[in-house]
Amino acid sequence: IPVDPFDLVIFGGTGDLARRKILPGLYRRFRDGQMPDGARIIGAARSDIDTAKYRQFVESAVLEFVSKKKCDPEVLKAFLGCFSYVTVDALGDMGWSELAKEMRDDVVHAFYFSVGPRLFEPIAERLKSHAIAGPDARIVVEKPFGHDLETARALNATMAQHFEERQIYRIDHYLGKETVQNLMALRFGNMLFEPLWNAQYVDHIQITVAETVGVEGRGAYYDRSGAMRDMVQNHLMQLLCLTAMEPPSKFDPDAVRDEKLKVIRALDPVEPEDLVRGQYLGDDDVAPYTQDAEAEDSRTESFVAMKLHVSNWRWNGTPFYLRTGKRLRARMSEIVVRFKEPPHSIFEEDTGQSANELSIRLQPNEGMDLKVTIKEPGPGGMRLIDVPLDMTFAEALGEEVADVPDAYERLIMDVIRGNQTLFMRGDEVEAAWAWTDPIIEAWQERRDVPHSYDAFSSGPEEALMLLHKDGRRWRELR
Ligand code: NAD
Repeated sequence: IPVDPFDLVIFGGTGDLARRKILPGLYRRFRDGQMPDGARIIGAARSDIDTAKYRQFVESAVLEFVSKKKCDPEVLKAFLGCFSYVTVDALGDMGWSELAKEMRDDVVHAFYFSVGPRLFEPIAERLKSHAIAGPDARIVVEKPFGHDLETARALNATMAQHFEERQIYRIDHYLGKETVQNLMALRFGNMLFEPLWNAQYVDHIQITVAETVGVEGRGAYYDRSGAMRDMVQNHLMQLLCLTAMEPPSKFDPDAVRDEKLKVIRALDPVEPEDLVRGQYLGDDDVAPYTQDAEAEDSRTESFVAMKLHVSNWRWNGTPFYLRTGKRLRARMSEIVVRFKEPPHSIFEEDTGQSANELSIRLQPNEGMDLKVTIKEPGPGGMRLIDVPLDMTFAEALGEEVADVPDAYERLIMDVIRGNQTLFMRGDEVEAAWAWTDPIIEAWQERRDVPHSYDAFSSGPEEALMLLHKDGRRWRELR
């Protein structure tokens, strides 16, 4: 669906995020005809370059991050025509009146704050004092939204001084993923799943976000944050909310976000024995965490696993197991809903029957599969086997549809449409911090030392035990 004409200003337009995600994503939307003729993108950053130089920067970003096959030189040329550049100092006067002159009337105005959070306030202030951002302007902000509850509150308060909540789009790119939205389609667009989506039928739920990369390159930043702040407070919490929430009354931003917020508020505090922290070791080829982080005595976790209880009627007694970590065996993100075994088996014990499992894969190969039990074909008697009802998009929908847009491009288009459903509201972010803070504080108070785990393993042994002691096991990382 095409969007209305817009002026999109990218503060930090020469930065790493713009180069790797925002600009290539915008190109793909342009190539697919989703950008209207009246679309204009204005790079705004400190670098002292002009529009011609900026267009070269955009061109090289597209050539580097969009697959060659999908990059048409004519289309790219037309795309570059949408761009201009203004040198702006977020902390000074330079560039602001020039930027004001660039903005057209009667088009959607969006401002992407792709800069560090310390620049949010100065930029917001100048957008207002130079009358660049009106009451309908949209403001896009990137994580991290604070370091804890206090800083998140302060950041929200700062933004609220200048903009209304309906203008603020807090990006969590996990929410832009096709499969994540499909989770809502699956749950609320079918009769098949929702009646079973509760403690009566679901044994437990696993949410995994595993990476093979370490923290090399951004070790100093990461060491102040750790897996809990960097991944759990935002991405895993969002996935948990969408999996556990009650059906909203309609697919509307506040209806959806109200239900997500209720899930966070229903989380029980986590018992220390239900939490496992880990830190990766090195091997012949890769350095250990402490070296990547340039902090020999670091106690920061690069892995965390936990067992959570959503304390409400629907989920009473069904645990949610979450884990995320770096330098693990595979790059894999998925949500797995494991159903209970049938209450009574009419088959002999060793026929091979097992419980149904619905897995929703975010990466790699976005898709879903449902493990069902059937009879093994052939004359061998009543032997049962598990087969996946595979719903990998590439196979089911054909290649064209399965060329799944990247999360960023979908979210940016939603900003232009004015649809906040897939963005976090301020109170959601604060509630997630309010839940995370006591856990981190307890670790700090008792100077908790993370368990070591081998590089490219499944994480620390203790994380495996977390499920073992409940008679369960993690899905294999592969
Ligand atoms: P970066 O350091 O690569 O780029 C920073 C940009 O800000 C540059 O364009 C620079 O010119 C501009 N800038 C710095 N000081 C300025 C000033 N005084 N006035 C005007 N412009 C100024 O940073 P990045 O990696 O692109 O990250 C940007 C934001 O996005 C950060 O908040 C980061 O946490 C967040 N983020 C980044 C990634 C990523 O993959 N890079 C992922 C998620 C979130």
